[in-house]
Amino acid sequence: MALAVAITSILAMLTSLSLPSLLAVAATLIGTTAAYFGGKLARFERSGEPIPKMFGVIAWGTLLVPVVAVGVIIADFALSDKIAWSLGCAGLVCNVTFSASLLSGRVPQQFSAAVAGWLPVAFMVGSLSSLGALGLGAVVALLIGRYQHRLQVERRRKDQARERVRNRAEDILRDYEETGHGWFWETDRRGQLTYISKSVSKALGRSTEELLQCPFTELFDLGRDEEEGERTLAFHLSSRSSFVELGVKANVQGEQRWWSISGRPAYDNFGNFLGFRGSGSDLTEKKRNQESVKRLAQFDSLTGLANRLQMQQTLEKILNAPNELRRECSVFLLDLDRFKQVNDTLGHPAGDALLKFVSQRLERVVGKDGRVGRLGGDEFKVIIPGHTERERLAQIAHEIIHSLSQPYTIDGQRVMIGASVGVAIAPYDGTTSESIIRNADLALYAAKDGGRGRYHFYSNELHSAVEERSKLERDLRDAIGDGGLELHYQPVVTSDSSEIAGFEALLRWKHPQQGWLSPAKFIPIAEDTGLISTIGEWAIRTVCNDLASWPEHIRCAVNVSALQFANPQLPTVITNAIAAAGIQPSRLELEITESVFLNDDAGTEAMFVALKRIGVRLALDDFGTGYSSLGYLKKAPFDKIKIDQSFVRGATQPGNRNGAIISSITNLADSLDMETTAEGVETLDELDLVRNLGCSHVQGYIYSKPVPLAQANLLVQQGPTIEAKGPRSAREARSKMLRKVVLEHGGEFYNATIRNMSPGGAMIEGLYNVPPGTTFNIAISASLVVRATSIWSRDERMGVEFAERLDTKATNLTDFQLVSQDNDRDQRLSA
Ligand code: C2E
Ligand code: MG
Ligand code: MG
Repeated sequence: MALAVAITSILAMLTSLSLPSLLAVAATLIGTTAAYFGGKLARFERSGEPIPKMFGVIAWGTLLVPVVAVGVIIADFALSDKIAWSLGCAGLVCNVTFSASLLSGRVPQQFSAAVAGWLPVAFMVGSLSSLGALGLGAVVALLIGRYQHRLQVERRRKDQARERVRNRAEDILRDYEETGHGWFWETDRRGQLTYISKSVSKALGRSTEELLQCPFTELFDLGRDEEEGERTLAFHLSSRSSFVELGVKANVQGEQRWWSISGRPAYDNFGNFLGFRGSGSDLTEKKRNQESVKRLAQFDSLTGLANRLQMQQTLEKILNAPNELRRECSVFLLDLDRFKQVNDTLGHPAGDALLKFVSQRLERVVGKDGRVGRLGGDEFKVIIPGHTERERLAQIAHEIIHSLSQPYTIDGQRVMIGASVGVAIAPYDGTTSESIIRNADLALYAAKDGGRGRYHFYSNELHSAVEERSKLERDLRDAIGDGGLELHYQPVVTSDSSEIAGFEALLRWKHPQQGWLSPAKFIPIAEDTGLISTIGEWAIRTVCNDLASWPEHIRCAVNVSALQFANPQLPTVITNAIAAAGIQPSRLELEITESVFLNDDAGTEAMFVALKRIGVRLALDDFGTGYSSLGYLKKAPFDKIKIDQSFVRGATQPGNRNGAIISSITNLADSLDMETTAEGVETLDELDLVRNLGCSHVQGYIYSKPVPLAQANLLVQQGPTIEAKGPRSAREARSKMLRKVVLEHGGEFYNATIRNMSPGGAMIEGLYNVPPGTTFNIAISASLVVRATSIWSRDERMGVEFAERLDTKATNLTDFQLVSQDNDRDQRLSA
């Protein structure tokens, strides 16, 4: 504006070819000076520094003074007729227009400048009309200016608000980028990066400028194109479709880093594709967490083996394979024998260590043949995919059992466990995972039932065994309700004087269809189903009542299962039974097996204390067959040790070491002030032996089998002694068979059947009343004829003794063995 003032003054002088008046000179000087400071103030205003209050007034002054100065200069020249009014007006219009353009956007200032330009002219001319026009113009300008000012203020407020929002959004995005939680990217239509956050270039170890030269896809590791995320990304970019939270692997050297990226295509107003725009975030931590969760969900945390879920998935994958031939597989279910015992006695850390050893051995045996998993506790599973011959499966099962049965050293202690294995083969034993597992479980159950440390293949008969067992369970419940159970009593005899010291009560059940059943067959069912507590309570009450009818010196023992022993109610049950029968507590003896020591120590000890407080006697049954730690003998207050019949059996055979064991047990019992009962004495030789070895009491068929109450009463009445009756020595083990043979005697041939046979003789059926001493040639097989003499005969049966002992192995006679020795024992029992 200073220039405008100066130019106006110079042009007026040039066109009038005259010098300006003093007033014009003063106006020129004041106008240019004010314009100069106005410029300075405008720059200060633009710098954004805080503006003092006075600033507005001074700014208005510096704005209006130069325009007034121009008006004064023009009016002065025109009034002194140095220039024409038309030229003066043109100059004034030019100046007002110039100042209006300088003040663009500031409407009040523009109006004020226009009025200020005309103000000196109107005053200097002095006519009323010009003053009136000026006044009117000023009022109109004031009103419009005010209105415009308001509009302007409003617009500025809106602009500032919009600016603030934009700044805030930018700040937030910048903060977001800087924290490293996320980043932004943009590409052009060719997929070339046009924007990328600094955090990405930092992560990739490259400069942002360098990255902006690259295609977007170069940010990711697309090397392994099987990766789901990368394939999907390529698809979206080429099809120009949006994608959300796509997991991709970052192209970072020497580190596994994962990103999640989202993006969408951008278009201009005409629908032309501009490129992609989107965001990304770091997925590494989440992915790692997911992986560890996945690992936890699929692997057993203790052993690192696959867990139940993963084994199930593996099996289902095989069984549902598209190719039918690939659906074959074999499943082994494993259960550790005596694991609970280790866990309970050595503690859980030792149990855990043992499980780790077991899993290592299992993996070593199974190797690449299959997959090993832990289902929980001491249960393991092995899946062997594909077709495997039964012989090979049997070999693997055998190796597993053998390997797991080798001793372990845990915390310096030697630990022995065993394993049982059940095997089911798909698709023969089932086509679904449920049926295969159920059948492998049945096979495992059969393996355990068969004596543990064994393997068993699934077969259809196992189902009938299970059904038979559940029928037996139902029948047992009925028997308990209907009084179908009985107690039989077997005498316990003093070895020095053969007096009946007491009895052992043994459970008997006459099954409506199967006849007399051994307790060995139904006690485990009673224990599994919890019926044992009812049965046990009934047995204790019955024994106490029967004791009441016998003389004071007769005692009676009752067997107490480990489950009963763990029941805190047992002392109450016993106290009540003794009180109800009115007998001396010391006449009742509880027979407990070593398995009670597998339970919690504190509970076991408390139970011993409670029972001793009642005053009953305690006997340790089947000593030597179970846990067999001598430690508890010192702690537990036993009155008697019962030496298991397996030690008595064969003790009389030359070279057998059972005698030495019996002798050491009696010595131990003596030193602990305990009695000993030798169980299962059947022959006179065995009786002599156990007497000589120092057993204080004897129990066995040599005196009597377990007999019903009435017969036991008779034995008591006939007492006090009882006579030992039986063979001198044990008969040789016989194999049962149904073998057709031909006997020759005096040139005559007879057809007969061998029912049982030992290397020394046989029982033959088919010839009536043969006189003892008759000799025969017996054609046992096409190549084997033996000479034999009859030694007894009853009806159509006779016993023969061979002239020479048979070598059963060489003659392959074991092939004819049909019935196991266990069954033999069952039959003897029912007889
Ligand atoms: P246990 O307590 O060791 O009983 C001795 C077993 O040996 C009895 O078998 C008896 O009949 C048998 N026995 C006795 N003398 C001889 C012999 O000279 N030769 C042979 N071969 N065997 C002989 P049983 O009656 O079959 O009982 C088997 C097991 O069932 C018992 O073994 C006992 O553990 C259990 N049991 C029997 N009754 C009960 C009961 O009321 N409650 C509980 N919880 N278990 C019982
Ligand atoms: Mg017993
Ligand atoms: Mg026993």
